[in-house]
Amino acid sequence: MPAAAVIVGAGPAGLACALRLAQLLDQHAGQAGLPAKDEILVLEKGREVGAHLLSGAVMDPRGLAELLPDFAASAPLASPVTTDAAFFLTADRSWRFPITPPPLRNHGNYVISLNHLGKWLGEKVEQAGITIFPATAGAELLFSGDRVVGVRTDDKGKDKSGQPKGNFEPGYDLQTPHVILAEGPRGSLSKQLLDRGKLSGANPQVYSLGVKEIWEVPAGRIRPGEVAHTMGWPLPGEMYGGGWVYGLSDRQISIGLVTGLEYRDPATDPFVLFQRYKTHPWIRQFLEGGEMVRYGAKTVPMGGYFAVPPAAGAGWMLIGDSAGYLNSQRLKGIHLAIKSGMLAAEALFASWTGGGDAAVLAFPPQVKASWIGKELWAVRNFHQGFEHGLARGLLHGAAQMASGGRGLHARYPAVAGHRRMRKLQELGAPPPLPFVPDGKLTFGKMEDVYHSGTRHEEDQPAHLLIQDTDICNHRCTWEYGNPCQHFCPAAVYEMVAAEGGGKQIHLNPSNCVHCKTCDIMDPYEIITWVPPEGGGGPNYEGE
Ligand code: SF4
Repeated sequence: MPAAAVIVGAGPAGLACALRLAQLLDQHAGQAGLPAKDEILVLEKGREVGAHLLSGAVMDPRGLAELLPDFAASAPLASPVTTDAAFFLTADRSWRFPITPPPLRNHGNYVISLNHLGKWLGEKVEQAGITIFPATAGAELLFSGDRVVGVRTDDKGKDKSGQPKGNFEPGYDLQTPHVILAEGPRGSLSKQLLDRGKLSGANPQVYSLGVKEIWEVPAGRIRPGEVAHTMGWPLPGEMYGGGWVYGLSDRQISIGLVTGLEYRDPATDPFVLFQRYKTHPWIRQFLEGGEMVRYGAKTVPMGGYFAVPPAAGAGWMLIGDSAGYLNSQRLKGIHLAIKSGMLAAEALFASWTGGGDAAVLAFPPQVKASWIGKELWAVRNFHQGFEHGLARGLLHGAAQMASGGRGLHARYPAVAGHRRMRKLQELGAPPPLPFVPDGKLTFGKMEDVYHSGTRHEEDQPAHLLIQDTDICNHRCTWEYGNPCQHFCPAAVYEMVAAEGGGKQIHLNPSNCVHCKTCDIMDPYEIITWVPPEGGGGPNYEGE
């Protein structure tokens, strides 16, 4: 099946790219050599547009305002930010910062549901004449030599052993000169490029995991647009991360905790840390008497400017979180995702109007020259400054703010998160006490996964590929204590009793919320996340 361009992923970056292409083709309608809009295809692995979109989310509207200047009239914006504050937490106390640090000021921004924004943008893309294929995953990049020449979509209707069932439908080979990867963090097709050595930035990419719930609460607990960020407890001082409480309306709260995926202790469990977070007196005052209604978890690329890889090559471009366009200091990426999608569309359009491959290869420098590059450059060393914990990170942050982002070194280095994990023997720490949820304020992973709307076809090949389960059952057990049981926020990995004694790994892939933490954080790098049959995964309705 030929296509002029295939965009993989209908998130803010992919949809902005599609919409900008439609705008440009409309503006130049009738010009010779341009493709028709229906030759541009968008693939979305979620069951519908927005199903896999999760974010805090406070959106800086800068990107959306460039894409759709009259967005405020019809975009689903839960509330403009009305107040913002930052707090430092200890186990039982909270201190409000006398002034909100500038990066956490949100005047002019909006509290939104990214799921709702994605659906709205998806409608605009379809109204503009571009086709979106929901429930369709990009399974594989097609290459001719070194050039990407298409995308193979997922097969449907295979059983657990990979054999076709009665409803089998093979995937399509979409042949196209242009593949735009907008898969979010740690995309599986992007990883194919990574494996071919095409995506190495100056620093390795590093990630955090955000775990989030939405609560319905009695009126009066929070105001719409009220935004609070926290540092400190329950994260130990050496661990990167922080929490948030946002008022979506006067009865609905978004609450979450971001944990840096670069911790030393393999027993670290970001989900449990989030559950503990809710028990803090300052947090529980918002939630008590309310009801948790939604759950989700997502990784976030935190490496910043120096971790952005070359974002274009022969036949491909990388946009949004897939490229790492995220401001880790402000914890914001939606505006950068939208702008990167627009710039990719403009580069592609330039290639159609005579620029050829050179126009596509000009995309990364164009990003650097745009306000994306300027914003990321100003915080280029921010995340790496926290390598030795919160206190030194804040000092480095101050030095960087005073020196326009430089700090003490021109480029602070980074280490991939899984390489920081220490072996049990090195740490000598006792095993963690089991966390017991109370079922009112705190929950277990299974109960939360239920609230993520996650659903997969049960009888399909596993989408979590472990190269060698012997490593899990033996070496990892004594070296790291099987950290997959802890870092997965959806209880996909379990160690169960093995026949003949000992333990063996058991997977529950149908719980998977597609956060990619296992692909990132496995210390032996033997787990590969591949897309399950399209349509599977969470349904982040309203998140
Ligand atoms: Fe995330 Fe991997 Fe667990 Fe799925 S299996 S929820 S991708 S950590």
